Amino acid sequence: MYSTNESTNDENSGQILVETIRRHEKHTFIIIHSHTACNDPNLRWSFASRGVNMITESMIQIRNVLHQLLPLGQINSKSTYTCPYCKWSLFSFSQLYIHVPLYHTNEEELSIKCQICQRSTRNYAVHLHEEHNDEHQQRSIATPLYAFSLVVCQRKRDNRFLVVQESGSKGFWLPGGRVEIGEQLDKAAERETLEEAGVKIRLIGILKIEFVPRSDINRLRIIYFAEPFDEDNCEPKTIPDYESYGAMWLTYEQTLQCNTQGQLRGNEPLKWFKYIVQNGTIHSLSILSKTEV
Ligand SMILES: [Zn+2]
Ligand SMILES: [Zn+2]
Repeated sequence: MYSTNESTNDENSGQILVETIRRHEKHTFIIIHSHTACNDPNLRWSFASRGVNMITESMIQIRNVLHQLLPLGQINSKSTYTCPYCKWSLFSFSQLYIHVPLYHTNEEELSIKCQICQRSTRNYAVHLHEEHNDEHQQRSIATPLYAFSLVVCQRKRDNRFLVVQESGSKGFWLPGGRVEIGEQLDKAAERETLEEAGVKIRLIGILKIEFVPRSDINRLRIIYFAEPFDEDNCEPKTIPDYESYGAMWLTYEQTLQCNTQGQLRGNEPLKWFKYIVQNGTIHSLSILSKTEV
């Protein structure tokens, strides 16, 4: 461990010392204990790129890391693994698992064939963590995300709302459905409304973005507000097919009645039609980006 007194000279000699140690001894765990290095990103970057394992101003964290390092020196009968970064060998799995992040987190990602499962991986550390750590797998990092686009579509001439009569007598509901792989959310909204209700729409805004994590999947729902693309040509589809039994335009009052008579699949139509009738906020479509910004 190298402790500095915050002067430029010290930083320079510290870096030279680090380089010297690193050149001769790959297994030494180098800690820089420095307030300056912890608050100056350039200095921190420079130490890290010279192979410093840890840069800290916390004595507690130094004590903790020393505890983590202790088991690495012990050789036991299960010692069969070699670190692909530094070739330090005779590790047990748990030693390798401790060693890799402590020594190599800042190194360039390494593509190798995993010694444990024989599979090739483009990022060894991530692979080790995600594929060979039971605890991590239980947290199920790969929880699927199901995205749905739903549409509240209102036509101006009579303020009626578009509903789909779902198959299997499930009831009236909002047009919309699951977003397909490679599909944009707005395209899914337009496609599903055309498929289920036979109406071509123009999206106007967004009413809500809902994210609901569950034990099996995480669910994302976007509730869009839309109008018919052509008010004079927005006849709903009525031929039953795989998408729906049919579709229709309902007034808010009719929707209320359907609700009392148990004809709604869920409360979404009533909730959102009421929201529109009561002049709820319609957010701009641009709050949802189609690319990483
Ligand atoms: Zn190593
Ligand atoms: Zn593996």
